Amino acid sequence: MALEEYKRKRDFKQTPEPAGKVERGKGHRFVVQKHRASHLHYDFRLEMDGVLKSWAVPKGPSLDPADKRLAMQVEDHPVSYFDFEGIIPTGNYGAGTVMVWDLGTWAPEGDADAMLGKGDLKFRLDGEKLKGSFALVHIRARRPGSKGTEWLLIKHRDAYAQEGYDIDEYDYSALTKRSIDQIAADAGAEWTSGRPASTARTPKKNDWLADSIAKADAKKRKAAKATAAKKSPARKSSASNAVKKKS
Ligand code: MN
Repeated sequence: MALEEYKRKRDFKQTPEPAGKVERGKGHRFVVQKHRASHLHYDFRLEMDGVLKSWAVPKGPSLDPADKRLAMQVEDHPVSYFDFEGIIPTGNYGAGTVMVWDLGTWAPEGDADAMLGKGDLKFRLDGEKLKGSFALVHIRARRPGSKGTEWLLIKHRDAYAQEGYDIDEYDYSALTKRSIDQIAADAGAEWTSGRPASTARTPKKNDWLADSIAKADAKKRKAAKATAAKKSPARKSSASNAVKKKS
């Protein structure tokens, strides 16, 4: 139901993004994805009512309470989008590189549905990069053609506030530590949405985190192997080139 617009915009035979479904009762996770599409932006997503409520934040979130960041509400995304990191192929909706910039849990500071309906959602984040109290505030934009989807993402003053916060200093994945350029260059960055539909084991509370970490570790090992294999011959050849040039 809530994912119709998400599905309408995508051809799942052409994009590695998950088709997804509404998954209730999973909890309160959040993710921020750095998305280098036609314009670089950050996608801020809160798990709520079985989907990821989503806002595109052109300048990205900030820990500086003086920054009021424009956040355009976009279509709900499936919960399985949570750990999507990789490349959306050319010709598809949102084509470009996606990084899991931050992830963790969130807690509403009040009744989440009521606050969202009112357009004044107050919450705390417990992520790797983003922590503390924030607000998403629906604004009435005066610009012509406004769809009424404009919100502001604002950090509240608390122990986690950081004056002069510069998001560009944090260009690394919370899952794989790769920069956006490294993800873009990684030909082996395909993301697999296929998890076993049912498993014998009982799901535990932090399975999603363990899964993400396990995936990231496997990727890191693979990347480290590939780099090690590439590095030694490459270095030798450039060294011998340098010698050749000199002689
Ligand atoms: Mn996006």
